[in-house]
Amino acid sequence: MARYTGAVCKLCRREGKKLFLKGARCYTGKCSIERRSYAPGQHGQSRKKTSEYGMQLRAKQQAKRYYGIQESQFHKYFLMAERRQGVTGENLLRICESRLDNIVYLLGWANSRAEARQLVTHGHFTVNGKKVDIPSYLTKAGDEVAIRSASKDSAKFKAVLETNAARPVPQWLDLNADAATAKVVALPARDQIATPVEEHLIVEFYSK
Ligand code: SF4
Repeated sequence: MARYTGAVCKLCRREGKKLFLKGARCYTGKCSIERRSYAPGQHGQSRKKTSEYGMQLRAKQQAKRYYGIQESQFHKYFLMAERRQGVTGENLLRICESRLDNIVYLLGWANSRAEARQLVTHGHFTVNGKKVDIPSYLTKAGDEVAIRSASKDSAKFKAVLETNAARPVPQWLDLNADAATAKVVALPARDQIATPVEEHLIVEFYSK
């Protein structure tokens, strides 16, 4: 399926919650959810009862949109999560969190996950000293992520780092802001993952 290129705020309004797809704007009164918290379209304000299947589908769509992952890849992550020890839903979120584009966003090195994906594709980051330009690259505990020295001093990165300097970084990532490096201390526990999704509904969706 092709990547969605329409207005991203509509995706949040469709899901009825903030998915934080637009960087700094998401934290201001300009956020579309703050101004129009109903679904887009002619019938967006009419109330509909959601079926059990509908809730499971919406949970899956929310997670995919939050992380910017397409269906085939997301389903692969689900199968991978099932094979791992532990709770499948939590494993699934942990896999999504460990993607390089997500980590770049969490570290404040990009304004949104979409921007992080683009910056990774353009080769601005290294993992354990080697350039990695694959947004879906799955990091693991102990990995060292860095902004490449050639990129670090560019006006673009200086502006992004300044904008996001106050954004809190999750504890499972050990950021050295001055050196623009970070270590993945451990993959996150569920309570360290901010995803606004009930993952058990996703597991139910794929387990039918
Ligand atoms: Fe979603 Fe951000 Fe747009 Fe608000 S501003 S609707 S959180 S993408």
